[in-house]
Amino acid sequence: MAEESLKVNCRVNGRLCGKCCYETEMPLTKADIERIKMLGFEESFFARLEGGVPRLRNINGHCVFLNPETNECTIYPHRPSGCRLYPLVLDVEKGVVVVDELCPRAKEIPMEVVEELAPRLLKLIEQLCEENT
Ligand code: SF4
Repeated sequence: MAEESLKVNCRVNGRLCGKCCYETEMPLTKADIERIKMLGFEESFFARLEGGVPRLRNINGHCVFLNPETNECTIYPHRPSGCRLYPLVLDVEKGVVVVDELCPRAKEIPMEVVEELAPRLLKLIEQLCEENT
């Protein structure tokens, strides 16, 4: 699957950062759920419903798929669409796509990349709304 991803250097101070994988609220599309189930995981193991939207489940405060020893994503090639576009997020109040300042690499994301991938994030949000109404 050749889904566009935002390339981020997640190595910070010599180790994988993993900051965005703690207390995750990442929503899951139906395709994300099916792809992860194909790996042999039960949906109830990795997804929870919050606000009527399926989201990645946390365990011990981090995404169920994060290895907390190494901060590696254990399903990286199969990770959800929203994870592929992070640190792009929607500023709900302004209705625009921005770079999440919580990401230590936020300032390194070029504006051209934000502009190029913003439509993909907006489309993903639209898809999530359609799937959950
Ligand atoms: S917060 Fe940013 S640098 Fe850290 S793992 Fe997530 S995307 Fe990578």
